[in-house]
Amino acid sequence: RAKKHLGQHFLTDENIAKKIANSLSEEGYKNILEIGPGMGVLTKYLLQGKSKVTVMELDSESVAFLQDDFKKEYITLNTSSEKFQIVEGDFLKQDLKSFFKQQQVAIIGNFPYNISSQIVFKAIENRDVVPEFSGMFQKEVAERVAAKEGSKIYGILSVLTQAFYDAEYLFTVPASVFNPPPKVESGVIRLTRKKDYTLPVDEKLFFRVVKTAFNQRRKMLRSSLKSFNLSDTLKEDTIFAMRPEQLSVSEFIELTHKIANHVV
Ligand code: SAM
Repeated sequence: RAKKHLGQHFLTDENIAKKIANSLSEEGYKNILEIGPGMGVLTKYLLQGKSKVTVMELDSESVAFLQDDFKKEYITLNTSSEKFQIVEGDFLKQDLKSFFKQQQVAIIGNFPYNISSQIVFKAIENRDVVPEFSGMFQKEVAERVAAKEGSKIYGILSVLTQAFYDAEYLFTVPASVFNPPPKVESGVIRLTRKKDYTLPVDEKLFFRVVKTAFNQRRKMLRSSLKSFNLSDTLKEDTIFAMRPEQLSVSEFIELTHKIANHVV
């Protein structure tokens, strides 16, 4: 039985499972981390590649299944034990950098929807070891991550993700291919880390500017960013007459730069 509090919706369509497992653009990552493998529907396809596959699962029943029946069926005698690692625990509580000893790790999954944005933020925080990230969210979250300026759903999640990753919305998955079916459709996205993923401005300030601006998304920046003690001359700058949803990621960086240089 699926556990609702763990966001369990098991995929029942093998073609879609295969398509999601193949959604990482690059082969040959040394490490792939799957979040929330459940009964291993994606895992078995991931294991066909060359990468070492680590799965992190919070549900002890699923872990017991993976360690026993699943392993018997999919890990043959010639597969080295190094190849597949099962970790029982909460992905959000893992220290990824020390777990993977600073090695690069691509993240994939049919994610538990109740912690979608936290998963994206955790990948962003660990971006120096996460070159790529792909998988399934509820459609609305997938769309928000990939949204561009000018769109109604463009927000904190879009800007903070796209400051470091190129985001692509890949395809939509209907609720009917899950057991139990979720209330909404799902969407698969891929995030590919930008070549240069360091910001030319103070990162903490950037995060604070983006979050503060979108907290009052209908207001002009000169009013929503009041708490930054903007000088009068700075407030005259045309960028402050804009609303947050109008600013591209690079304009948010420019805005942060202006604020950093002009705070009185
Ligand atoms: N991958 C399976 C599939 O496609 O059928 C299961 C997907 S289900 C949407 C999400 C899975 O994430 C569940 O197996 C659930 O137990 C697991 N999960 C929930 N919260 C988790 C967490 N914090 N860390 C790791 N796994 C978690």
